[in-house]
Amino acid sequence: MDAQPNSLEARDIHYHLHPYTDARKHQETGPVIIEKGDGIYVEDNAGNRYIEAMAGLWSVAVGFSEQRLVDAAARQFAKLPYYHSFSSKSHSPLVDLAEKLVKMAPVPMSKAFFTNSGSEANDSAMKMIWYRSNALGQPQRKKIISRQRGYHGVTIASASLTGLPNNQTSFDLPIANVLHTSSPHYWREALPGEGEEQFSTRLADDLEQLILAEGPETIAAFFGEPVMGAGGVIVPPAGYWEKIQAVLAKYDILLVADEVICGFGRTGNMFGSQTFNMRPDIMVMSKQISSSYQPISALMINERVFEPLADESNRIGTFGHGFTCGGHPVAAAVALENLNIIEERDLVGNARRVGGHMQERLGELASHDLVGEVRGVGMIAAIELVGDKATKAPWGKAGALGALVNDLLRQNGVISRNMGDALAFCPPLIITEAQVDTLVDVVKRALDAAA
Ligand code: PLP
Repeated sequence: MDAQPNSLEARDIHYHLHPYTDARKHQETGPVIIEKGDGIYVEDNAGNRYIEAMAGLWSVAVGFSEQRLVDAAARQFAKLPYYHSFSSKSHSPLVDLAEKLVKMAPVPMSKAFFTNSGSEANDSAMKMIWYRSNALGQPQRKKIISRQRGYHGVTIASASLTGLPNNQTSFDLPIANVLHTSSPHYWREALPGEGEEQFSTRLADDLEQLILAEGPETIAAFFGEPVMGAGGVIVPPAGYWEKIQAVLAKYDILLVADEVICGFGRTGNMFGSQTFNMRPDIMVMSKQISSSYQPISALMINERVFEPLADESNRIGTFGHGFTCGGHPVAAAVALENLNIIEERDLVGNARRVGGHMQERLGELASHDLVGEVRGVGMIAAIELVGDKATKAPWGKAGALGALVNDLLRQNGVISRNMGDALAFCPPLIITEAQVDTLVDVVKRALDAAA
C-alpha cells in the first residue's frame, strides 16, 4: 500500500505482526484502522462507517458504545484496579460473577474458574480433565476427542483441539492424546441421498469406532461447540447431539461444551447447550461474557469434575493452575454489567426474533447462482458460496469467491468474515430488523456484483 511515512498505516506495517494475517501480504495491503464504535457500527480513520456484521470476533453482544460498561469499568478501576484469586484470595466482582454464572447454567454446575481468553479456558479444561483422571486412579484416561473443522483456540493444547489446517500446519501440532472425529457439515459431507438423521447416525458411529479402536478406557473427554463458528458456521444436523451424547454416556466420557461463541444468547437461547439439548460436564465461555470490552473467560465444572479435583489438590497440597489476571476485577465487573444488560434488554429474545428475521432474509439469497447453502440459527449465519450449485464445486480456487465477496462487502460498508467460501454473519445482538434489511441488501448487491 502507498502509506504516508510515519502514518498509522506505515507504522503498523513496520512494527506490528498481525494475528490471523498473511504477514507478507500485509506489507503490501496494509491495515484497516478502526477508530471508533457506535452501536452496530464501527468507523475507520478515513471516516468510512461499517455495519460490524461479525460483532468484532463474534463477541460484542451489546454493540460498540455501551456507556454502562464504560461506567462499570471506571467504578471498579477506582475501587480496586487489580487483585488475584490465588491462595483463597477473592474480590466481590468475582464472587458475584461466579455465582451468577453457576445460577445461569442450563445444567447443574458446581464451580466457575476464570481465565483470560477462550484458548486459555479450553487449555485449562483439558488440564483439569487430565488432573481428574489421575485423581480417579485412571492415569491411562488422557485422550481427548474433538472434531475436524472445530475451533477451540490457539494455545498448544487448544490449537491441538482445533480441527483446522492453518492452526496446525507448520506448528507441529496436534500434540499427542488429541484425536479428531468427523465434522457435522451436512451440506458438504453427507452422502448422496443421506438424510440428516442418517448422517448424524453415521457420525455417531464414526465416533464410536474411534473410541473402540483407541480403547474406551483411554478416552477422557469430547470437546465440541454447539454450533461450529470458525469452521464455517456449521449448525448440527437433526439428531446430532442426541446421538453423540448417547455414545459418550455409554463409555463414561465427559462432554465439554465450548460455548465461547454460542454462550449468552447467540443461538436464541442463553446457551447453545440449551438450543441443542446438550448436557455438558464442563462449559467454556468467553467473548459475549463481557461483550469483549475486557478480556475475560471462564469455565464451569460440575460435581463429577470438581469432587475428584478437590480430592487431588488436597492430596498434593494445591491445585497448581491459575493465571495472574484470571478473573481480573475490572473484567469481572464489566462482565457482570454486560450480563445484566443482556438480561434486562432481553437480548436473547432479540437474537431469537431479529435473528429469525435475519435467517429469513439471508435465506432469500439461497436461490442466487453463487449460493450453495444459507445456514444458521438465532443470530449467527453463513452463506456458502459456490461456482456450481449442482456439483458444489468452488468458483476458481477454493476460498477465492469468499475473499472477493468479503472485499466487496467492506467496500460497501459491511464487515463480514469469509472462512474459505463460507461468509459468516454474527452481528451484535442489539441489531434491529431494519438494520438487518440494510445488511442483507448490501450482501445481495455484492453477490450480484461478483456474479
Ligand atoms: N473457542 C471458540 C468456539 C472460539 O470461537 C474461539 C475464538 O474464536 C476460541 C475458543 C478461542 O478464543 P480466544 O481467541 O479468546 O483464545
